[in-house]
Amino acid sequence: MRVEQLGDGEPELAVVGAIHGDEPCGVHAIETLLDANPPVERPVKCIIANERALERNVRYTETDLNRVFPGDPDAPAYETRLAHEVLDEIRGCTTLSMHSTQSYSCPFALVEETDPFAEMIGPYLSIDAIVEVGDEFADALVGYVDVVEVECGMQGSQEAADNAVDLVYEFLTATGALPGAIDPTGALPVFALNDPIPKADGTDYAVHVENFQRIESGDTIATIDGHEIVAEQPFHPVLISANGYDRQFGYTAEKIDLLKN
Ligand SMILES: [Zn+2]
Repeated sequence: MRVEQLGDGEPELAVVGAIHGDEPCGVHAIETLLDANPPVERPVKCIIANERALERNVRYTETDLNRVFPGDPDAPAYETRLAHEVLDEIRGCTTLSMHSTQSYSCPFALVEETDPFAEMIGPYLSIDAIVEVGDEFADALVGYVDVVEVECGMQGSQEAADNAVDLVYEFLTATGALPGAIDPTGALPVFALNDPIPKADGTDYAVHVENFQRIESGDTIATIDGHEIVAEQPFHPVLISANGYDRQFGYTAEKIDLLKN
């Protein structure tokens, strides 16, 4: 883990990249920020979390870091020990953590719930939607600190890297670390995550629906070796992709609200 700081004093803000080693957009954003070294009005901790996985360009080396919080300093798995260290660094910090996906090219945010914290940050980020993960990601960072996890775009793309830079600056402006005003975006749709969409064993996977677009009962969600997976009830797919996860295509979600500002 690499930890740097902008400004003096005990940080109450943190930006985190490379929770997943094959999502380099956050690293680019943090390095861009550190190179620019802007004068900050509040100190900011900058963390590149899973350097070992980053070096190998893999999501994780032993276990998914974002599924083992709060971690354990004595655990056998590297990422479980690392989770404990990451949490130690950012506990008490208002945090932005940057990810990228195989499912959707525009940025969106994941929060535990749409609480005043999410309402304070969300409208200032260039995002399409907010996803409330609730208990579904109980072992993720989002379950342990005031964090907005942003999906910055498609994994490995230049666009995701550029978006991550914008999102870091917007986050730091929204939280008063950087001067200046930004206009809040319009109303943001909020989706509540429900169940995973399971993915059976197969070799050829395809997805036939769009993220955040409502689908109806009877619609074909995906195919596994040509076999159709059909929706039993209407829902909005979130984080859905053919090959993003091993055991699931993504999640069902429900559109619950509009976050206005
Ligand atoms: Zn990720």
